[in-house]
Amino acid sequence: MAQNGTTVNGVSEGRPAMPFPQPVKVQEIRHNKIFINNEWHTSIKGRTFPTFNPATGVKICDVEEADKADVDKAVEAAKAAGQRTSPWRKMDVSSRGRLLHKLADLIDRDRVLLATLETMDSGKPFLHAFFIDLDGSIKTLRYFAGWADKIHGKTMPVDDSFMCFTKHEPIGVCGAIIPWNFPLLMFMWKIAPALCCGNTVVVKPAEQTPLTALHVGALIKEAGFPPGVVNIVPGFGPTAGAAIASHMGIDKVAFTGSTEVGQLIKEAAAKSNLKRVTLELGGKNPCIVFADSDLKLAVEESQKGAFFNQGQCCTAASRVFVEESVYQEFVRRSVESAKNIIIGDPLDPRTSHGPQIDQQQFDKILELIESGKREGARLECGGVAIQDTGLFLQPTVFSDVGDHMRIAKEEIFGPVQCIFSFKSQQEAIERANSSEYGLVAAVFTRSMDRALAVTAALETGTVWVNCYNALHAQAPFGGYKMSGNGRELGEYALAEYSEVKAVTIKLSETL
Ligand code: NAP
Ligand code: MG
Repeated sequence: MAQNGTTVNGVSEGRPAMPFPQPVKVQEIRHNKIFINNEWHTSIKGRTFPTFNPATGVKICDVEEADKADVDKAVEAAKAAGQRTSPWRKMDVSSRGRLLHKLADLIDRDRVLLATLETMDSGKPFLHAFFIDLDGSIKTLRYFAGWADKIHGKTMPVDDSFMCFTKHEPIGVCGAIIPWNFPLLMFMWKIAPALCCGNTVVVKPAEQTPLTALHVGALIKEAGFPPGVVNIVPGFGPTAGAAIASHMGIDKVAFTGSTEVGQLIKEAAAKSNLKRVTLELGGKNPCIVFADSDLKLAVEESQKGAFFNQGQCCTAASRVFVEESVYQEFVRRSVESAKNIIIGDPLDPRTSHGPQIDQQQFDKILELIESGKREGARLECGGVAIQDTGLFLQPTVFSDVGDHMRIAKEEIFGPVQCIFSFKSQQEAIERANSSEYGLVAAVFTRSMDRALAVTAALETGTVWVNCYNALHAQAPFGGYKMSGNGRELGEYALAEYSEVKAVTIKLSETL
């Protein structure tokens, strides 16, 4: 998901122009432990787990594995750091903003190293990590840094004998459970609004990709955040993640990942202490291309939407509906473009397409591709693995996809573009909306009237017109229906990280 509407010049179309940044040689991983109270801890159970480079299958390092007892320790630290008399809570709110800016400065300083670590751990192309993930992370921190001293309550006009106003207060300890597809960016989407509102946090990175979050732990300490404000517990979902979701000492949990696990999180929250929950889940996102659109733009953007991050995006443009009269031409150009994508070592800055995250995802994608072929979709290109080592898949285009097929209904989370044909605007809207998901949608047309009419009818949290994956820290992001609850980013995110206290004062004198 390309936050800030950034596209990496040239990367999606071919080799980028020189000069471009280069990854660093990482000799050793410095941060692979549990981060609590601004200190590095070993696992209470004495366990570690390996993290791998998905491009080579080689182990990068072992990481200390947090389990329930470690989560308890992190929650203790976060609770103490968030007490009303703590340095964090007593801090002038502008200083909170300055700390977030300082963290953004340090991330910018370590940008090449962080982009390299992100590429090694997740397999995403280096330039994508460098420009898109790092830019998005820094901008998210700076955006919420700006809010820290602007979180205002309201005064309510009640009857003359009372004065009534609201105060916005931190919720308390916020848990965050994040996925492997945007490890650093999702970390920032969670901690930046939580911290600007004065909360403390306990974050569980995904087991496949813990390294950038842990490096940021060191930067959090260097920036001067008081101990316990941010705690990072690398580990597994069913252990560390479940401990967060059901913890009696955690007041809110924010989750990004699959809809199935989102349901478990909400259930655990309900059964424990009714902690507040925000969920950012899956999508089966429609992209509607009308015959009057700029076809070159529509082909480029919809394909970027389908293949960006190897298709491992909740926002993936996985259902492209194209008006009948331009359908054949659209398919022809999409296939040509898919065949030109540069696949290879993600640390090579010329690469624009890396490996899938792990064997399980790789097998699931291939299985869905097989189901598409079996169910009668036309495989235009790709559909196969391309190397003996690593988890590389050829970008795949299916045409003649039917709405009943599994590839039309299930989240594939891989580089598979499904193209459908439609006859009328009404039909396109109905088919776009006939999904249990409602995350994002896109419309391509030269008619603003049509764009606005279709936008109004689409049941999704985001609609992009003549663009795709144009995410900005200022704009709220989240889903309708089973794509989630609540919103991240923008001013809307502040409400997800604040309690509202209504104060009513009886006045003894009225005029
Ligand atoms: P996932 O299981 O939903 O994982 C997301 C996060 O939740 C990870 O940190 C995971 O821990 C944790 N988790 C797993 N089970 C948990 C539990 N019982 N309680 C608390 N936390 C738990 O996603 P995945 O297995 O990585 O991918 C499966 C599918 O999810 C994908 O194919 C895709 O469809 C979807 N997905 C969506 C997004 C998105 O951006 N919306 C991101 C990733 C995946 P671990 O570290 O143990 O995995
Ligand atoms: Mg890894």
